[in-house]
Amino acid sequence: MSGQPFTPKSHWMKTREYTPGPSLEGDIQVDVAIVGGGFTGLSTAYHLKKDEPGMRVAVLENEVIGFGASGRNGGFNMTLFGLTLSITALRFGKAKAREAHLYMERAVDLLRDLVKELGLDCDYEHPGFLRVATSEKYIKRIQHEIELAHKLGLTGIEWLDQDQTREQVNSPMYMGAWWEPRCGILNPAKLSWSWAEAIRPMGVEIYEKTAVTEVKKRKDGILLMTPNGSVRAQKVVLATNAWTHFFPELKRKQVPIWTHIVITEPLSDAQYQSIGWQNRQGIEDARNLVHYYRLTADNRIVMGGRDISLSKGFYDMDRDDNEETFHSLRNDVRELFPPLKDVQFTDAWGGPVSIPLDMAPAIGYMGDKRVVYSIGCMGHGVSLTHLNGQTIRDLILERKTDLSDVFFVNRKTFPWPPEPFKTLGAKAIVGYMHWEDRLYDGDKIT
Ligand SMILES: Cc1cc2nc3c(=O)[nH]c(=O)nc-3n(C[C@H](O)[C@H](O)[C@H](O)COP(=O)(O)OP(=O)(O)OC[C@H]3O[C@@H](n4cnc5c(N)ncnc54)[C@H](O)[C@@H]3O)c2cc1C
Repeated sequence: MSGQPFTPKSHWMKTREYTPGPSLEGDIQVDVAIVGGGFTGLSTAYHLKKDEPGMRVAVLENEVIGFGASGRNGGFNMTLFGLTLSITALRFGKAKAREAHLYMERAVDLLRDLVKELGLDCDYEHPGFLRVATSEKYIKRIQHEIELAHKLGLTGIEWLDQDQTREQVNSPMYMGAWWEPRCGILNPAKLSWSWAEAIRPMGVEIYEKTAVTEVKKRKDGILLMTPNGSVRAQKVVLATNAWTHFFPELKRKQVPIWTHIVITEPLSDAQYQSIGWQNRQGIEDARNLVHYYRLTADNRIVMGGRDISLSKGFYDMDRDDNEETFHSLRNDVRELFPPLKDVQFTDAWGGPVSIPLDMAPAIGYMGDKRVVYSIGCMGHGVSLTHLNGQTIRDLILERKTDLSDVFFVNRKTFPWPPEPFKTLGAKAIVGYMHWEDRLYDGDKIT
């Protein structure tokens, strides 16, 4: 299971050196074992150890720290919870949609502050976020979202008209935008590995290339089985997001889907000037299957999204590459920014995120309160996972706080159906999203 080379998994993983730590050999006993070395696991380990320095905490990672979505994502530190504010309001009601957005604002600020306070080296920039409208229908969709946000008493989001948007970034496709200065961008593999370097000296034990193959509940604790050893723990956190269905009790809670990214060579000064993106905001459009794009520290363009890949059956985790999507994403960069028609692309990759049937995050208990899981960190989990680390800390320490009481802790989730209905259902949902995107894209002005 373990042992895949990690540097081909994303461009970000080639931007600094990382030497994985040891695997688990033998049997150990800890207070808390965290399965999964992504942002959820790393943030949970940090917050537990910070509050309870005497606690023995171990992180067990199947591959290397940041191997999952955490080391491969677009690096947007942003406030979106689930799909859109209006879909969250439809699913959970307006009060909870407001609560979700405020949680996400707190998550964005927490991550920004942690990076600064701990000196986490991740090329963090704080340029804000634009959700751009590329057709009349998307103008209406975005303005409706902004109105809803304002009705819910949420601040910090405003509408920019076409001229104001193009003053920020010069694309002939832009017709207006949602502007949210709170958000940031970062290098996610650097962040993952900086986290490892920050928590090791605090005493957190990290075992890489260590797959947890079984979770056995015993009266006197939980026993985790790994290929060359075992861990006896009082409490366990399953921070495995898109892989969580491998634990039989959680099999139907979520399915993995893959989102994909391409990246250009560093832009020349002339190319950089030609697209007028000096303020360097992170950008998404307003499609169901969004495009997300941004500049890197060395002025490459990262372009992701547009389509997703589905697994074949429940246990297929091999959808990182999708040549058709890579090809389309390269064309999307050229269409958005005509002066870049000759820009070269140097890399392409994908990674899995976790999709519960109602497409919203969930933290819960697997059976009794000794095992906590986190799922539903979809395409917008960079900030969320960091605050979830504090929330999970409170659950593990059995503290009653505003975080432990947040509505998506222990919420009702709906099981994905068995095959072939799971695949048919997923295809139907994605098919509908594509159909609506085409309808909305239809009247775009280029
Ligand atoms: C291409 C892409 C672009 C994205 N862009 C953005 C973005 O710009 N902004 C944003 O907010 N979000 C984005 N996301 C989503 C975000 O990256 C995720 O929501 C977030 O990283 C999830 O973190 P995690 O720690 O919960 O899971 P992961 O980072 O996936 O970590 C789970 C870890 O568990 C390990 N594991 C699994 N099973 C076992 C086992 N049995 N034993 C031991 N270890 C195990 C895996 O190897 C993995 O390292 C993107 C995701 C992808 C894939």
